Amino acid sequence: MTLSQRSLAPLPLSPGAKIGILGGGQLGRMLALAAARLGFDVVVLTPEADAPASRVADRTVLAPYDDAAALAELAQACAIVTFEFENVPAEVVAALHGLGVPTAPSDLALATAQDRVIEKTFFRDQGIATVDFAAVDTADDIVAGLARLGGPALLKTRRDGYDGKGQAWIATPEEAHAAFERLGGVPMILEARAPFVRELSIIAARGRDGAFAAYPLTENTHRGGVLHLSIAPAEAMARTHEAAIALARTTLERLDYVGVAGIELFELANGELLVNEFAPRVHNSGHWTLDACEVDQFEQHIRAIAGWPLGPTQPFAQARMENLLGADVETWPALAAEPDARLWLYGKRETVAGRKMGHVTRLTPLG
Ligand code: AMP
Repeated sequence: MTLSQRSLAPLPLSPGAKIGILGGGQLGRMLALAAARLGFDVVVLTPEADAPASRVADRTVLAPYDDAAALAELAQACAIVTFEFENVPAEVVAALHGLGVPTAPSDLALATAQDRVIEKTFFRDQGIATVDFAAVDTADDIVAGLARLGGPALLKTRRDGYDGKGQAWIATPEEAHAAFERLGGVPMILEARAPFVRELSIIAARGRDGAFAAYPLTENTHRGGVLHLSIAPAEAMARTHEAAIALARTTLERLDYVGVAGIELFELANGELLVNEFAPRVHNSGHWTLDACEVDQFEQHIRAIAGWPLGPTQPFAQARMENLLGADVETWPALAAEPDARLWLYGKRETVAGRKMGHVTRLTPLG
């Protein structure tokens, strides 16, 4: 069925409508909980049996993302489809759109975020600062890039990278060939080292009517390339806050974005910001909003894609969110006994070192 043949569900979507989610991880699980709270039913498409999102959803279509029959089933069942996983092929989102079901965010936003060279070029074109970079197709490109950018520089795969995977620091030209091979000889990007003092992020939303809302800046600390701790609202200069909100607004407007997005930032010593990367989905560094805001990032995303008004983003408490990685999750009895700890467990069947198993947020009064 094509877009013209199918009558689209009118917006705002009424409770009872079905929302499709591509991906079955913890972000999908928390989106599904938020959708259920607003009276929607969720259909999850995931290749993973018994996925965290499936166990709180109305229905699961268990299939690879590019399975034509599964996509047709999802398009038929749902009033709108979104995604929780940014490595879903952008063509799949485009195909769903072609099958007559609206998708949000768009395949354009997804494709922009999926390739680090396209992503950084997009930001540069909007006048938003990033580190300097060079596209890498051969080991010789690394040598040339290093000469221009200076070392050490960070080599990353253009696609499919997350949580610091697919990355290698390059200090001298002699390291170029081995690093290129080690990362698989695929297209890459070489990035100048960001001389940051802190890592921050901003979670923002844009509605179907173009309305924009941003949560306050979050300060993030990583361990082994994985987010460990988020503190929000981050203490920052007023002009740093304003710059973050302005760049988030520009990004979402230029992509004609609908939904919630997370933008990871480097703060320099003078308070200026560089964009590190853009996630076209709800974001781990926004989990604190679940407990410290009236409308959290998951509900905000559902509101945005369903054509509902965006909710307030002002926190009513200071939040400290810690990820429970791997065996950290075994501390759940102590966390459950702590009166001020808000515990979220993702229901993953297997504990794997470094795997995001849950998170805990502690609230204190706003200073
Ligand atoms: P990414 O996968 O791009 O988010 O990178 C993972 C982590 O590596 C970031 O959170 C930073 O701590 C670090 N990092 C990434 N890019 C750079 C860069 N150009 N300069 C310095 N550190 C970086």
